[in-house]
Amino acid sequence: MSRFLRDAHNVLQERRFLEEQRVQKVLNALLDDDTYSVLNAEKVDLRANMSRLASQNKDYSELKARYDEIVAKMQARMQELGYVEDDLKRKPVCPLCNDTGFIDGAECGCLKQIVYARLRAHCGTLATDESDFDKVDLSIIPQKDRESYENFYAILKLIADKFPLNKKKILGVFGAVGVGKSYGLSVLANNLMQSGFSVLVINSAEMNSLFLKMHLAREADKQDIWEPLIECDLLVIDDLGAEPTINNVTANYLYCLINERDEKTTAFTSNLPEDYLRTKYGDRVFSRLCHKQKSILLTLNGKDLRLN
Ligand SMILES: [Zn+2]
Repeated sequence: MSRFLRDAHNVLQERRFLEEQRVQKVLNALLDDDTYSVLNAEKVDLRANMSRLASQNKDYSELKARYDEIVAKMQARMQELGYVEDDLKRKPVCPLCNDTGFIDGAECGCLKQIVYARLRAHCGTLATDESDFDKVDLSIIPQKDRESYENFYAILKLIADKFPLNKKKILGVFGAVGVGKSYGLSVLANNLMQSGFSVLVINSAEMNSLFLKMHLAREADKQDIWEPLIECDLLVIDDLGAEPTINNVTANYLYCLINERDEKTTAFTSNLPEDYLRTKYGDRVFSRLCHKQKSILLTLNGKDLRLN
């Protein structure tokens, strides 16, 4: 079970607990009232006697009439004390699953929603909230460039459909500033998060400062910095290559990161040419990032869409 799913179950457990506490508090306040308490005791007695008679197949209509009378008196007393009948009923936030998170063994939408909200909050800055590839409007792309965008979104959709069993674990998206690389990867990120996968989107500068923090951290603290980068199902590094190079840090930690994420999907965008990345990070990193068989590398040909 993912950390986020576990968190979501804790949220639901907390909701149930708080609601039970609220009901219990109302009940305690009512039972503190002498009039209500006496009526309640009689009601409990009557109910026991009624079920005894019912089990003996005897008539209990007289007791039932008295019972109804008591219930009406209790309700009236509740009102005098400032409560309504509903105050004694549990009111779940999600009436579909009563805040259990499950309907007939299947996960309720509310559980998924909590997971998604947590993932989203954890993820970093996204270029869009869109999660549906079919809703991305490519009509604003000039006809001559459109094919490369259609290809881009077809690949993203394929990754999402197969995830996490997609074979190629590295996706590199090249192209000039503002052509929509981060937008596309944000749609992928949202899409996967909605399916409950954990996603982390960071830009290369954030990545670089995490590397430095990791480098300088005490041994005991290293794990906390490193874990989210390694554990997330999809890691998106935006603007790779734009970060300043820190000797003994940037390329080394990037290599470790990609190595340790061998089984997980890592995507990056870059507006720098492949050769620049080779020079910046060295052959060892470059051959992992841009491996012809193990990576999907594509280039978005287009103009800066933000100028449109
Ligand atoms: Zn629910």
